[in-house]
Amino acid sequence: MLDLNASVLLIYTGGTIGMIEDSQTGALKSYDFNYLKDYVPELQRLKFNIDSIQFKQPIDSSDMSPEEWKKIVQIIEENYHKYDGFVVLQGTDTMAYSASALSFMLEDLNKPVILTGSQLPIGKIRTDGKENLVTALEIAVDKDPEGNALAPEVCIFFQNLLMRGNRTAKINADYFKAFNSFNYPVLAEAGTYIHYRHEVIHHPDKTCIPQFHYLLDKNVSIIKLFPGISTEILDAMIQIPHLKGIVLETYGAGNASGDAHFLNSIKAAIDKGIVVVNVTQCAHGSVNMDRYQTGKTLKNIGVLSGYDMTTEAAITKLMFLFGHKLSPEEVKERIKLSLAGEMTVK
Ligand code: ASP
Repeated sequence: MLDLNASVLLIYTGGTIGMIEDSQTGALKSYDFNYLKDYVPELQRLKFNIDSIQFKQPIDSSDMSPEEWKKIVQIIEENYHKYDGFVVLQGTDTMAYSASALSFMLEDLNKPVILTGSQLPIGKIRTDGKENLVTALEIAVDKDPEGNALAPEVCIFFQNLLMRGNRTAKINADYFKAFNSFNYPVLAEAGTYIHYRHEVIHHPDKTCIPQFHYLLDKNVSIIKLFPGISTEILDAMIQIPHLKGIVLETYGAGNASGDAHFLNSIKAAIDKGIVVVNVTQCAHGSVNMDRYQTGKTLKNIGVLSGYDMTTEAAITKLMFLFGHKLSPEEVKERIKLSLAGEMTVK
């Protein structure tokens, strides 16, 4: 239902959607938000209010970092009571990381925060940006007859699909269908109308008050296994001062080599207090360390299951938990819980 008094805040951080070609090199570079607005006159035809705010220096999302995530959270916190929903425009390259981080940093949301962008700049005739932007804005203000937001989560809207942000991965560098949510159903699909799947959307408890978190710890890393990975490389990573958490991308259902040197390296990391979380390299499916001996051995040395979490969700969850100065034991307890619907705990 459209509320004619509704208001949405559009936060422009950069990304292809607002980029132009450099006249010298032809490469795409970030550009001003006013330029983007000129290319979407449709914004004026939407029957609700849209205010916008832009990063001083719009960025390619390859330059996203926890500092930018904090800026976004701060903008949302400062404006939370003034708007019905928020749309964040950013580049697609790291959008799944941003959506995952924001899902932890914005706790007990009761308004939508929708990230979107595009594969082709808004100035290109075949751009996918207009459709993504206009529908994301509509979703940000959509409410049920009682006035409750229909999608009060951190989401990515891309190519007609609304997805839980911390379940997404960028899957395509070229095609408009750039994101997928492999392990969780889509929250809504846009066609001639927007079809919401209420049963899979999280609706907050009415007594919960949104909380805004800013603490993230960057002393975490991702190790993707490959046949032949050398223990020197593993050991060198484990020796990195202050390293607190590792997302270990394993094979299939959470399996890794049974080689004694490899296992000794991982065990040494765990003995040092580093939290090691197992996620699968497969796009679809879950870690189950009880299924094969190779997985069981990892479990026995203290590797934790990341179940069906994406790498993006797992790394930002570690940043978030360690950011809150939790001890390794406390992080181990909390990593097992689904904090923002990011994993399916069996
Ligand atoms: N490199 C761009 C970015 O992530 C790609 C995009 O926007 O799709 O900012």
